[in-house]
Amino acid sequence: MTDTVSTTGTTESVADFAARARAWLAENMPRIDAEHPPFTVRAEQSSWDRAKELQKRLYDGGFAGICFPREYGGLGLDFAYQRAFNAECRSYEMPLILNVPTFTICAATILDMGTEAQKRERISAAIRGDEILCQLLSEPSGGSDLAGVITRADRTDGGWVINGAKTWSTSAFAADYGLMLARTDWTVPKHEGLTMFLVPLNAPGITMRRIREVNGNEEFCEEFFDSLVLGDDAVVGEVDNGWEVASRQLYHERRAVGGGSEFASGTGAENANEMPPDHVGLAEATGQADDPRVQELAGRALVRRVVKQHLIDHVARSIADGSLPPNAGTLIRLFHAETTELEVDTALAIAGTAAVVDEGGAAAGLLDVGVRYLSRQTGSLGGGTSEMARNVIGERILGFPRELAADKGIPFNQVKRGRS
Ligand SMILES: Cc1cc2nc3c(=O)[nH]c(=O)nc-3n(C[C@H](O)[C@H](O)[C@H](O)COP(=O)(O)OP(=O)(O)OC[C@H]3O[C@@H](n4cnc5c(N)ncnc54)[C@H](O)[C@@H]3O)c2cc1C
Repeated sequence: MTDTVSTTGTTESVADFAARARAWLAENMPRIDAEHPPFTVRAEQSSWDRAKELQKRLYDGGFAGICFPREYGGLGLDFAYQRAFNAECRSYEMPLILNVPTFTICAATILDMGTEAQKRERISAAIRGDEILCQLLSEPSGGSDLAGVITRADRTDGGWVINGAKTWSTSAFAADYGLMLARTDWTVPKHEGLTMFLVPLNAPGITMRRIREVNGNEEFCEEFFDSLVLGDDAVVGEVDNGWEVASRQLYHERRAVGGGSEFASGTGAENANEMPPDHVGLAEATGQADDPRVQELAGRALVRRVVKQHLIDHVARSIADGSLPPNAGTLIRLFHAETTELEVDTALAIAGTAAVVDEGGAAAGLLDVGVRYLSRQTGSLGGGTSEMARNVIGERILGFPRELAADKGIPFNQVKRGRS
């Protein structure tokens, strides 16, 4: 991509677009106060209301959905324009929580696999800041074996009746629609009898509950479907071909988590809590700045962070030039999870007893270390576990033999499950 004229039909250069964005941002978006950066709590409805409000401003200003096609409410521009915009908006408050999963995963999947009506309605509503999307994939019986879902969708006259349950749905309480994978044919092997549906979350027949996490947050939800009725227009892709849609969704999720999606607008952490821990600051605050053991711990974490950035660049380049398969995004996802754990473990090792989570006993700035430790493994679970990532790397990148699948080729209704 050159920096002059786009291949997308606009005559505005990336540099001119960036200059126009710079002026517009200064006039229209709230500038971040470095002393008091925005603190976005995904579990709070107010954070989503604020994100929608900011998204509406972007839309009204003509800077929303930069890489989504014009017919679905976007600008139809190349990634170079989005990158330029991201560089310009770093010091402004942005609706970052809309990136995952709404834009980068759900809208991207609808764009690839949805009907014309789904694209026109859902993608444009999200870009306007009117709607939020979520993923309804994992079930109480397990999330790793996604093709083994047991939520059922049975055909009726002109539609479907859904019964079953989903869980761990990120921010579903704030969402308007969810992409939900259900089983539509039990007489064929597991990957062949699935269908993806776009579910309106306020429909009768859905009971949603928040899940309380160990760190006190309540961002995840579980949903129970009791004879939820959907029309044929809710089907995404083809009936019984839901695995293709789910695979596309997982592909977009890997790209989103790796930071390589053109559909993400704005960069950086959603709030200060997600910034890498300040190991040097912690060492100073606990009087250990001159301790060689502490310096070594902090150095090891810093090196890992630098290597992570190089790995992201290398893998992104290699996928783009075809020297690595698209599945290689899993390398970034795994390394990201392991780096986050090392960084938080290191912070706890340095802070020691000062990080004890005890309702305010710890020194300012240190309490956060203990709370973060409680949720340090989210990166190695969300979007598929680190074990599953290792399986993908072994089998699909390194070419190792596939793991034995006892249910391969067997009709799903004859597969032994649980205690059966
Ligand atoms: C931050 C976060 C966000 C999430 N958001 C969503 C969301 O929006 N929507 C949604 O549907 N789900 C979501 N999830 C759920 C997530 O997808 C699941 O937690 C994940 O897929 C694992 O499923 P499980 O927890 O049921 O574990 P299980 O599948 O029960 O696995 C249990 C353990 O067994 C291991 N294991 C299982 N199979 C294998 C195998 N074949 N080889 C080796 N090890 C194996 C796993 O690695 C794991 O350690 C989210 C989870 C987190 C932490």
